[in-house]
Amino acid sequence: NRLVSPQAEPEDFDNESSLRPKSLDEYIGQDKAKENLSIYLQAAKKRGEPLDHLLLYGPPGLGKTTLAGIVAHEMGTQIRITSGPAIEKPGDLAALLTNLQEGDVLFIDEIHRLSRQVEEVLYPALEDYALDIMIGKGPSAQSIRINLPRFTLVGATTRAGQITGPLRDRFGVLLKLELYSPKELAKIITRSAGILGVPILPEGALEMAKCARGTPRVANRLLKRARDFADVMGDGVIDAPIAREALRRMGIDEIGLDEMDRSLLRAIIEMYNGGPVGLETIAAALGEESVTLEDVCEPYLMQLGYLTRTPRGRCVTRHAYEHLGMKAPGAPEQ
Ligand code: ATP
Repeated sequence: NRLVSPQAEPEDFDNESSLRPKSLDEYIGQDKAKENLSIYLQAAKKRGEPLDHLLLYGPPGLGKTTLAGIVAHEMGTQIRITSGPAIEKPGDLAALLTNLQEGDVLFIDEIHRLSRQVEEVLYPALEDYALDIMIGKGPSAQSIRINLPRFTLVGATTRAGQITGPLRDRFGVLLKLELYSPKELAKIITRSAGILGVPILPEGALEMAKCARGTPRVANRLLKRARDFADVMGDGVIDAPIAREALRRMGIDEIGLDEMDRSLLRAIIEMYNGGPVGLETIAAALGEESVTLEDVCEPYLMQLGYLTRTPRGRCVTRHAYEHLGMKAPGAPEQ
């Protein structure tokens, strides 16, 4: 379990619902997505119609589930939450759809993992609010149509490129979520600390925000751990020195890298002269799964400009050498 992993860990589920913003006003950052969504919501409310189907995409832990909940809250309806892999058969989807109420939000996380057969049942549901069901087999088989309540599908994915064209075309609104800035994350940490009743100073919040890898889920997790250090080593208040010490003891450096990130960079430098090297080769050398490296380490290392992807493989940049205190090839002697 990596503290800086953007993917949900069991510990995140404690207090998760209390930390989730319930309205668009409480939702910090993502200004562009929020501005557009606010207009679409107002327009739908004015027309008395459900919001158009909405696709949210971006890395894990940025607030896609939270936004889906906000859509339901703002429209005054209920949300049903499920995920692509959980809907195994067309019948599973039919059961979900027929249980919806007028205006409900159906949230499907990891929507790129729906099977083809399930997707085909979804198309008429999205377009015509209808289900086409086959009754019987062979030449006597008949298709009957069942009308569904009007609903809004909110689909979420970390891999927009893996969504099939026909499914993507059925979403009226596509919103991309971006990594958050340290300033926005500091606001999120301060808000969460207020809800959890943890005293925190602005400098303490900023120290943690700088290490939260652009991800609110990581920010909240760091806050919960720093609270323990503040209680045991200080007077309970998270100030900058306590935040720094907590991060150091958690093995997280001043820009949010942990041992796995550093091992990845070091392996490319020491074993493959800085690259290019294929992802599978690095994964085998580190004894890690390639998907973990690709989904969990790489996005942030690339955002920092420490790692690049080339057609021939991964390469580290001069900045990575500098961060690790190593001499880059061709760099002048110190
Ligand atoms: P995944 O796709 O991995 O399920 P997600 O993108 O759906 O992740 P959420 O579960 O919505 O992410 O958010 C993770 C946590 O981060 C939530 O518990 C929520 O408290 C917090 N959070 C996310 N976005 C914001 C925000 N804009 N303002 C405040 N808190 C936020």
